[in-house]
Amino acid sequence: MILFRKSADLHNWVETQHKKGKIIGFVPTMGALHPGHISLIEDSKKANDFTVCSIFVNPTQFNDKKDFDRYPITIEQDLELLLGVETDLVFIPAVDEIYPAGEKKEHFELGYLENILEGKYRPGHFQGVCMVVSRLLKIVGPDNFYLGQKDYQQCMVIKKLLELMNIQGKTNIIISPTLREKNGLAMSSRNMRLNEAEKTNAATIYQTLQFIKQNIRPGDLSELKRQAVEKLEMAGFNVDYVEIADAENLHTVTQWDGKQNLVALVAAFLSEVRLIDNLLLQ
Ligand code: AMP
Repeated sequence: MILFRKSADLHNWVETQHKKGKIIGFVPTMGALHPGHISLIEDSKKANDFTVCSIFVNPTQFNDKKDFDRYPITIEQDLELLLGVETDLVFIPAVDEIYPAGEKKEHFELGYLENILEGKYRPGHFQGVCMVVSRLLKIVGPDNFYLGQKDYQQCMVIKKLLELMNIQGKTNIIISPTLREKNGLAMSSRNMRLNEAEKTNAATIYQTLQFIKQNIRPGDLSELKRQAVEKLEMAGFNVDYVEIADAENLHTVTQWDGKQNLVALVAAFLSEVRLIDNLLLQ
């Protein structure tokens, strides 16, 4: 496995491979890797000549400094996991490699997507995501770009970003399904901060999403959402939102016609740890 820390080294390496006609898959991460991340690497390995993974805890996407300071860092273990699945290349840049001192930070016109759901509760978050992803895309220039459905809104924001960068035809987005623990809890680097009892309790999020899926009927959805919030609160969660939205554009749906494709999305705190998850309802 090749390890690069400098953007120019990675950029030149990818260019050389492209000249040889090789296809490059790219999996960006913030490290603290778990089987969910590894499933993205495996998906990339199946469809590309080379798979590049980046590990970079992006400071600009944390609206809460404490959350950034507490983000788990497990580099040794990450490298072992990446070696275990024969990742071709890992990119671990320093902050000033991605954000050179004095460089102006750009603004992205994300429209409606920016201020709903995660955007509403984490102001500035998606601007930070776009800053890092646009820079990584310029450095790597991958053919295939792998994202997890776990971060549903992020997938939509990044689709929009590719449009803004005008590279939709050059880079394909591939969305891999959410990997879960046996009890249904979506795997997440943040789960490391939960104790065993909390991990068991955290499965309530998935049970709540399943409850929505099983009980949704055409008509008004407010009572179903209220019951879902209640379930989470009874289990000790502090709920940011439970929302049911159009799966294609994330517009909130209050009255369901029984046909529109929907996704249910949850964000809630268990003690100090903020967890998100979602489930397609069809
Ligand atoms: P992160 O390191 O949290 O920024 O995640 C890096 C990528 O892995 C993102 O595209 C995530 O959506 C994806 N990911 C995170 N957790 C999971 C999971 N449980 N299953 C599948 N993909 C995931």
